[in-house]
Amino acid sequence: MRLNIPFDNTYAALDEVFFSRVNPVAVKDPTLIAYNAELAKEIGITSGTEDEHAKVFSGTRLAKGTDPLAQLYAGHQFGHYSPQLGDGRAVLLGETCGSDNRRWDIQLKGSGPTPYSRRGDGRAWLGPVLREYLMSEAMHALGIPTTRALAAVSTGETVFRESPLPGAVLTRVAASHIRVGTFQVFAARGDVTALQKLLEYTLNRHYPDADGPLGLLNAVIAAQAQLVAKWMSVGFIHGVMNTDNCQIAGETIDYGPCAFLDHYDPMAVFSSIDRQGRYAFSNQPDIIVWNMAQLATALIPLMPDQEKAVALFTTAVHAMPQLIRDHWSRAYGAKIGLTVLRPGDDTLITELLQLMADNSVDYTNTFRGLLTGHARDQFDNTAGFDTWAERWRQRLCDVPDAETVMAQNNPVFIARNHRVEQMIAAAVEGDFAPFHRLRKVLARPYDTQPDAADLTQPPTPQEVVPATFCGT
Ligand code: AMP
Ligand code: MG
Repeated sequence: MRLNIPFDNTYAALDEVFFSRVNPVAVKDPTLIAYNAELAKEIGITSGTEDEHAKVFSGTRLAKGTDPLAQLYAGHQFGHYSPQLGDGRAVLLGETCGSDNRRWDIQLKGSGPTPYSRRGDGRAWLGPVLREYLMSEAMHALGIPTTRALAAVSTGETVFRESPLPGAVLTRVAASHIRVGTFQVFAARGDVTALQKLLEYTLNRHYPDADGPLGLLNAVIAAQAQLVAKWMSVGFIHGVMNTDNCQIAGETIDYGPCAFLDHYDPMAVFSSIDRQGRYAFSNQPDIIVWNMAQLATALIPLMPDQEKAVALFTTAVHAMPQLIRDHWSRAYGAKIGLTVLRPGDDTLITELLQLMADNSVDYTNTFRGLLTGHARDQFDNTAGFDTWAERWRQRLCDVPDAETVMAQNNPVFIARNHRVEQMIAAAVEGDFAPFHRLRKVLARPYDTQPDAADLTQPPTPQEVVPATFCGT
C-alpha cells in the first residue's frame, strides 16, 4: 500500500496575513524511529512503507496535496507580551478529516527555518522529539485532551545546542494549532478584519454551536477549565503556560519542560527557565484564568459596544475559578472513589492532599495505593493517614462502585521524569529500546503490568532530574 494523506486544507485557504508559505527543508538521512499507525488510521491516512513515512514525515518528500505553511501568532511569555512569535521550527503540512469527520492538523516540528525563526535554526534534536512523542501519547492514554504524535524521524544531521546532538523531526497532530496568541497578534496590530475572520474560522472549526466573541470565550473557558483540572488530577505540570502555548480547542499543547510529579509538592517547578515559579503545579488554575483574560482582551475589538463587552467578558472570566473548582472536585472525588459528591467531600480531598504534601509521598503511588491498600506505606506519619482513612472508609461504605472508579482514575504508570531522561540518554547512544518500552507501557496506564513494575518506582536520589528544559 502507498502512503496516502487525503489533505483538505482550510487554513491555507485563508488570507496570507495568517501565515507564511514555506516548505520544510529536506534532511540528509531520514530514518523512521516511530510511527503511530493507529492514529494514522483514525485521521484518515492510508499508511505506506517505512521509507515513505521517513521521507514524508521528515519533510524530505512532499506528499500530494500538501500546502505547507508556518502560522503567525504572538503571545505572553512569562507575563510579557512578545508581538511576534509564530512557527519558528514547525510547518503545517495540511489538514485531514478522519472517519468521524473531525478535522486534524498535521504539522512537522523541527523541519527547518521559517520567516518566524528569528535567531533559531528551525531544527529540533532527538531528546525533545522523543519526549513530546512519549508525553503526548501518555496524556492521550490517560484520557486527557492533547495533541498527538504521528511519527518521529531522525534526520542523520547534527543539531548544535550546548553540544552537537542528533537531529529529529516530530509529526504532531492537533485539532488545530490556533492559540490564544493567534488572536492576540491581530488584536495588537489593530487588524480587526483579520481578527473577525479568525473568529469565524475558529467558531466554525471548533465550536459551531457557540455564538460570536462571547460564545467563543465561554467555550474556550469551559474547555480549559476542564483541561487544567485533569492535569492536576494526574500530577501534570505543563511548565510553560504562555498564551502562545494555550490552544483554543482545549488540547494540551507544547511539551517542552513539562513533567509529572513524583513526590507531592504543590509548589513544584521543573522548568529551568521558570525561576519565579510562575507555572508551579498549584499555580496552574490561576494562570489559565490569566490566559483567558488575555483572550478576552484580544476579542474586545470585535464587540460593537466595547464598554459593555468589558463588563460581559469580565463576568465570563470571573466565573472561571468556580468552574475549575467544580472540575477539580469531580476529578479528585473520582480518585478517592466518589462520583456523586456531597458537602464535606472537598474537605476530605484537601485533607488528604495536605497529608500527602506534609509527608512528601509519591503522588501517583499514593492515589493508586488507595485502591490496592498500599497508600499507608507512603506516609511517615501513619497515624495521620489512619485517621483520615477511617473517615474515608466511612464515607465509602454505601458507595458500591468505588473500586472501579478509583481504578479508572488513578493511573499505575505515568511518564516519570527520570525514565524519560534515561530513555533520551539511551536514544542518543542509538538504543531505542527504552523509548519503545515506555511507549508500550504508557499506552495502558491504568492496567497493572507486572513486567513493568520498575516503571512505577520513583527516582532514587541519584536518578532525580532537578530541572527540565524547553524543547528547542
Ligand atoms: P516554545 O518554547 O516551543 O513555545 O517556542 C517559543 C517560540 O520560539 C516559538 O515561536 C518557536 O517557534 C520558537 N522556537 C523554538 N525553538 C526554535 C528553533 N530551534 N528555531 C527557531 N525557532 C524556535
Ligand atoms: Mg510554543
